[in-house]
Amino acid sequence: TDGDSSSSSRRRSSMFFGPVQLEDHESSSSTIVEGIEGCIGNTPLIKIKSLSEATGCTILAKAEFLNGAGGSPKDRVALNMIEDAEQKGLLVPGRGDTIYEGTVGSTGISIAALARAKGYKAHICMPNDQAEEKYSLLHHLGATVEPVTPAPIVSPDHFVNLARRRALEYTNDSSSESRGFFADQFESPANYEAHVKTTGPEIFFQTGGRVDAFVAGAGTGGTVSGVAKYLKEERHLTDLRVVIADPYGSGLYNRVHYGVMYSPTEKEGTRRRSQVDSIVEGIGMNRLTKNFLAGQGLIDDAVRVTDAQALVMANWLVEHDGIFIGSSSAVNCVAAVVTALKMPEGSRVVTVLCDSGTRHLSKFWKAVKESGLENQEVMAGEPQEED
Ligand code: PMP
Repeated sequence: TDGDSSSSSRRRSSMFFGPVQLEDHESSSSTIVEGIEGCIGNTPLIKIKSLSEATGCTILAKAEFLNGAGGSPKDRVALNMIEDAEQKGLLVPGRGDTIYEGTVGSTGISIAALARAKGYKAHICMPNDQAEEKYSLLHHLGATVEPVTPAPIVSPDHFVNLARRRALEYTNDSSSESRGFFADQFESPANYEAHVKTTGPEIFFQTGGRVDAFVAGAGTGGTVSGVAKYLKEERHLTDLRVVIADPYGSGLYNRVHYGVMYSPTEKEGTRRRSQVDSIVEGIGMNRLTKNFLAGQGLIDDAVRVTDAQALVMANWLVEHDGIFIGSSSAVNCVAAVVTALKMPEGSRVVTVLCDSGTRHLSKFWKAVKESGLENQEVMAGEPQEED
């Protein structure tokens, strides 16, 4: 009971777990970290046993859902963007500043948590069609959330343009010293630089530099550009294959294969917005961001992934490996399998598990359960249809 003395609960736990030996702790690598910022990075690289067995390659996945502030690789990015802004004097602790961001969720959640930890406010502009868990999380983290009707990037009401405008408005209207800071994950170099500084080196040292392919989707392009830059440019892994995992409806597959973001069967100048609406959140794009362009020339291939493949993969990973992830991670794993099957047996393919399935219960995981695809084998090989 609650009234139990701590000595009796201590006795109880030693009954179940046995007495704790001092040596166990001496050999432990765990240390005290300085605030929630200290829980960012140094994520494990998981060997996914079922996919490794199925492909004859080693499939390794960076467990980015274990980043401890917002539960995704965006923790690294948010921290770097905030620290960069502090160094430039754009954010000043104690001044009452507000961080503004346009995001489909992950970056907003990371910013909201770190804003709290550092004494800033957060204002997040987010499309209104994302999984409801994300709004809820942002709300509980104390951010102001502005849901936005999806609009093309040229519209002033696109969520990114709205966040930029709101930051300016705040600064202009502020009667105090406080300022609005637009984080700008799509265009800010502090995004891919976070991966050059942390994710890339971690992958290099975790694999001892023995990595044959890196496979990742691109939302801003920060992850793929930053990791590719570090491994290919700083570590000279020139044989490394960098592969984009691309959901249908995104233009990156065509960009990588044909140099254009629209289908080669379409006439130039008749470019349209793709009619394909993928259930996948966080990756895929139809414009070239500075963070994607930072990795230009370093990308070797792109694999297109259907929603059905992602649903099957998500279910497979739970059934075989006990790994419960969200939609972009599932797309990454499908593309990792497709890539592995094109490579010599025994190759090492690294991919990213971006966030946990708990953030996608109401949309992606609902679709997994309703898909009727639950007992299918993981589908490999590229689908044949044209965009
Ligand atoms: N997965 C999820 C869930 C994301 O939110 C994002 C970023 N929007 C990505 C993957 C893609 O990462 P990046 O922006 O570095 O390309």
